Amino acid sequence: MNNPSPTEAAVAATTPGIARRWRPTPLIAGASALHVGAAAAVAFVPATWPWAAGSVIASHLVLVAAGLWPRSALLGPNWTVLPEHAAGQIALTIDDGPHPDVTPRVLDLLDRHGAQATFFCIGDAARRYPQWIEAIVARGHAVENHSQQHRHHFSLLGPGALRREIQAAQNTLAEISGVRPLFFRAPAGLRNPFLEPVLCELGLTLASWTRRGFDTRTREPAVVTERLLRGLAPRDILLLHDGNAARDARGEPVVLGVLPAVLEAAAAAGLQCTTLRAALTSATLAAQPASPAGTRVAPDRLANIQSDGTRTTGCPTPHTSHGNRRR
Ligand SMILES: [Zn+2]
Repeated sequence: MNNPSPTEAAVAATTPGIARRWRPTPLIAGASALHVGAAAAVAFVPATWPWAAGSVIASHLVLVAAGLWPRSALLGPNWTVLPEHAAGQIALTIDDGPHPDVTPRVLDLLDRHGAQATFFCIGDAARRYPQWIEAIVARGHAVENHSQQHRHHFSLLGPGALRREIQAAQNTLAEISGVRPLFFRAPAGLRNPFLEPVLCELGLTLASWTRRGFDTRTREPAVVTERLLRGLAPRDILLLHDGNAARDARGEPVVLGVLPAVLEAAAAAGLQCTTLRAALTSATLAAQPASPAGTRVAPDRLANIQSDGTRTTGCPTPHTSHGNRRR
């Protein structure tokens, strides 16, 4: 049997919007054991200290490297593709907004193609432009958590600072949109081992991507489009930006030159654009056993009922294992 993919493992561990127990990954458990072993070795045989120190330093370097790899599941569950249940769909994710000039034009493009997208929004930007958070939700898209300030040194923060950044964005986005985010994406995708326990506490699931266009740096829409569409397949999660978008030679935000081609290619391939939370809802509903009365509770409704989202105890949803998928 194949091991579950990072996405399937994340679905298995998630009851949307509800706090869950943190469980260390094999890498984190191994690093912890190594620290204990190194301390014991030095205590009983002090001459082993160079080996003990070297082992501890090496384990820290591996943990840092895992945090610098956005699509890694070494530090915790991570959506890199949609769940298997979402065959025939892809997800467009649009980061760093809302932006007062770009977000409205992105929304118009999505409307024109009948597509839904997930917007990973920054709390401070949402506070400045709340009308565009409201518009995103009113037009059928999803707002998710991309931290309050989008700090460039986010991956260097300790557990308390990480929690404050993410909790502040949860509160800001829920207050403005009326819907509590279910997903978190780290600024630039960079993180550290303290992040996953905070996400567990807040009932959030980490989401990265299948492919990104680097559209905050690349000024040629054709190049960004090619990066996103090369090997486009069902369950892909694509990353674009409405905030911090690079400008093309005419001064237009690159995302506006990329989206039509991506949406047309998806339609030509028979792929429907969905949101991450819609995919999570259908995956958890599929995995949830029916009650004796034959009814199931929609995870989105559960997430809204638990509106404080932080202190509710909940057990991971039982889930069958799924096949792996590699890129
Ligand atoms: Zn970002």
